[in-house]
Amino acid sequence: MKASPHRPTRAVVDLTAIAFNIKQIAAHLPQETKKWAVVKADAYGHGAVAVSSYLETEEVVDGFCVSNIDEALELRAAGLKKKILVLGVSDLTALDLARTHQVCLTVASLDWLDLLEEAGLDVTGLVCHIKVDSGMGRIGFRDSKSVQRAIERLEAAGAQVEGIFTHFATADEPDQEKFEEQLANFQALLAALPQKPALIHASNSATSLWHAETVMQAVRLGDIIYGLNPSGDVLDLPYEIKPALSLESQLVHVKKLPENSSVGYGASYVTSQEEYIGTLPIGYADGWTRDMQGFSVLVDGQFCPIVGRVSMDQTTIRLPKAYPLGTPVILIGSSGQAEITASQVAQQRATINYEVVCLLSDRVPRVYRSDD
Ligand SMILES: *Cc1c(COP(=O)(O)O)cnc(C)c1O
Repeated sequence: MKASPHRPTRAVVDLTAIAFNIKQIAAHLPQETKKWAVVKADAYGHGAVAVSSYLETEEVVDGFCVSNIDEALELRAAGLKKKILVLGVSDLTALDLARTHQVCLTVASLDWLDLLEEAGLDVTGLVCHIKVDSGMGRIGFRDSKSVQRAIERLEAAGAQVEGIFTHFATADEPDQEKFEEQLANFQALLAALPQKPALIHASNSATSLWHAETVMQAVRLGDIIYGLNPSGDVLDLPYEIKPALSLESQLVHVKKLPENSSVGYGASYVTSQEEYIGTLPIGYADGWTRDMQGFSVLVDGQFCPIVGRVSMDQTTIRLPKAYPLGTPVILIGSSGQAEITASQVAQQRATINYEVVCLLSDRVPRVYRSDD
């Protein structure tokens, strides 16, 4: 979908806040720990090129993690120089691209290495990280013998095994049991290796925040750098973190409807008295999904309910009085003393803040702010 810049709906991204959040986390980690910003899925909807370029220029990270080779190539095409690690399983077509553009790939199974060999692919000079499944059940090796075998095969073929990592399933939950079990599995697997790769890493945002003792040589920071609490509101953040994204629009139409008038598809809302109804140019095609009906937005520091169905391109709200066209409306962010967070939006949708920001579509232009 094309961006629609001639429409007053935009996601404003505060790059300084992202750098601030990384510095806050870094201040609570050993100085030598490598900090990698996870910028997959277009930096969780914040814009991967703009975010990564800012972080590289400000020298607040040591590298980037993405989910696939295309996301990595986007960063290289934009001139980014720092390390990039692809976290997912790569297609065989990614191999040559990874070598040419100095992108590190994840190796998650011997079956994948078989495919490479059968295809007769050259891995000379490829830099890779071994993924261990310590209990997530998704991708990765589950025993040290296979890891050892993978390392031997990769090195024999001329590749470099630079790192080994795992990923926790429950680091954002109060119950520690599953986390401890995964950690023990990972440590046992590492202990059984005659030689360990140089970079051992296990921490995502939640692990870096609430299990700082588990931080190894590098951390992979996603949600938290965007100022989002990975637990939603379940666990408190141990230090200040600033939300980076606000979703803003404007009133493009305001009308006074008489009592008993319906609003929107399905006529699901009917005015109970004379009411002021305002229309915003944002809808489910922007990632402002239909289940937002019944939630609120901010106008002039006040919560105004979303009434009637959210349609593809428009959302209707009830206003306390007639406001002029062009009046700012905040869907995520602050207005006066009032604030709406991505976690609150997520709660309304029975999902997580990650999904709220990732789903903002390309139709919403990203506008960047920074203090410098
Ligand atoms: C997405 C991802 C991360 C980042 O997770 P956050 O919870 O956003 O910090 C880290 N590691 C892996 C393997 C991931 O897929």
